[in-house]
Amino acid sequence: MSEKTLLHQTAALLGDFGIGVETLANGDVPVTSPIDGSRIATIRGHGRKDLDSMIAPAERAFLAWREVPAPRRGELVRLFAEQLRQHKAALGRLVSIEAGKILEEGQGEVQEMIDICDFAVGLSRQLYGRVIASERPGHRMLESWHPLGPVGIITAFNFPVAVWSWNAAIALVCGDPLIWKPSDKTPLCALACNALLGHAIERFGEMPEELRRGLSQVAIGGAELGEALAEDRRVPLLSATGSTRMGGTVGPRVAERFGRTILELGGNNGMIVAPSADLGLALRAILFAAVGTAGQRCPTLRRLFVHDDIVETLIPRLKRAYEQVKIGNPLEPGTLVGPLIGEAAFGAMQQALDEAKRDGGHVSGGERVLAERWPAAFYVQPALVEMPGQSALVRRETFAPILYVMRYRDLEEAIATHNAVPQGLASSIFTTDLREAELFTSAAGSDCGIVNVNIGPSGAEIGGAFGGEKETGGGREAGSDSWKAYMRRMTTTVNYSRELPLAQGIRFEVDAP
Ligand code: NAD
Repeated sequence: MSEKTLLHQTAALLGDFGIGVETLANGDVPVTSPIDGSRIATIRGHGRKDLDSMIAPAERAFLAWREVPAPRRGELVRLFAEQLRQHKAALGRLVSIEAGKILEEGQGEVQEMIDICDFAVGLSRQLYGRVIASERPGHRMLESWHPLGPVGIITAFNFPVAVWSWNAAIALVCGDPLIWKPSDKTPLCALACNALLGHAIERFGEMPEELRRGLSQVAIGGAELGEALAEDRRVPLLSATGSTRMGGTVGPRVAERFGRTILELGGNNGMIVAPSADLGLALRAILFAAVGTAGQRCPTLRRLFVHDDIVETLIPRLKRAYEQVKIGNPLEPGTLVGPLIGEAAFGAMQQALDEAKRDGGHVSGGERVLAERWPAAFYVQPALVEMPGQSALVRRETFAPILYVMRYRDLEEAIATHNAVPQGLASSIFTTDLREAELFTSAAGSDCGIVNVNIGPSGAEIGGAFGGEKETGGGREAGSDSWKAYMRRMTTTVNYSRELPLAQGIRFEVDAP
């Protein structure tokens, strides 16, 4: 593939969204594709001053947007979903070009955006409060939910569009404007999404100018810009997705100013395969969860615990399946594994494999491939590493396709080992034994936010709350009652009697003057 081809394809795709070449050629921030390492655009980056000039209009937009009735706000999200349906193929392809995902997964991300929009539209008529029984006669107590303010959204490279939409769709119906700092590796996807939301805003009808300007904005930059967003008191909620290192920096910054966070950080996801498991199903699930997206999903399967009785059957089959996975250009049909995001990811993978060998691990795969064809891109054979135990290396997240395989004999011990890592995102068990499945999902089972039975840990659907415990950050997005994080809770007591009784029966009387 020539550099020209990807450059032109990118310009054509963005042109369809209404983004002209002047935006893609005249900046100071180079954007490259992991497919061949070529430059696909050079866009303008933003500094702290630019961010300041985005937050002020977002504050003004908030004052107008919070007064638009929630079902009407839902109408904007419905229009956005229409745009996404219309442009699904193009946006999915852009995800593939910029993040290196195979076409199927790029399209899947856009479908996920459509799904969260549909969810949010329904939600816009269901931002329910509650009426609470008061202990005082002639009194009514109620709880209601109000818009919060501008929401800062920091996203990672590996889900360059879906994660923003989880936040954006819900925040918009909740009455909050958006300021998005995407990964510096995938800014074009952000410009494209924002342009599509802009088309929806145009179709929405009458809107005051300050609302049109400040409802959704994108700030292009790296860690420093993210930190500026985290520190700004005018942003009451920061939803940040990325590494635990990043969360460790932004979490305290937001806490210092008493802001709120939704943190969606690193995972180190495990699966237990029990003796009664349907091995055919398990094999397919392991393959997708461990090598899909080149091992660069947050819930990618990284640790596999196989019962002693089936290890000699499952692992040789798994190795054969690994050998058949087609690695290559993610834009070509049939490819299952695209490139790593870049050289640093490749370096981290090789370091981890060297450490695994020193720890007594047996490594299959892991080597670089297609280097002659694409010297500036980093394609790898996914690695399967049989480990004698859960070393310090295995307890860390290496964001690459490495699956550590360990044996177990006793399920309770396996669960304890599974939980003995700092992260707590996703987990699964393959078993047909009801007792084992129930134990794994019980209070004494997996300590993760996502706990699956007979499906892999990755590939969540909209509707359930997504997120994890411990160093994964504790945030929840995308489903269930996660919308509450984007609103402020109000408790109200109304006295419709002619008396003024105090709670807890307290008497505080004076002779009324
Ligand atoms: P990263 O932490 O390098 O970057 C993520 C985002 O944070 C980027 O926008 C980056 O510019 C910004 N950032 C980095 N340092 C920052 C700082 N000090 N202050 C403010 N912003 C900062 O992560 P990545 O390499 O883009 O993505 C991979 C990581 O993200 C993995 O650890 C993966 O598990 C995690 N992830 C988690 C989830 C989840 O839902 N739990 C989803 C996707 C990715």
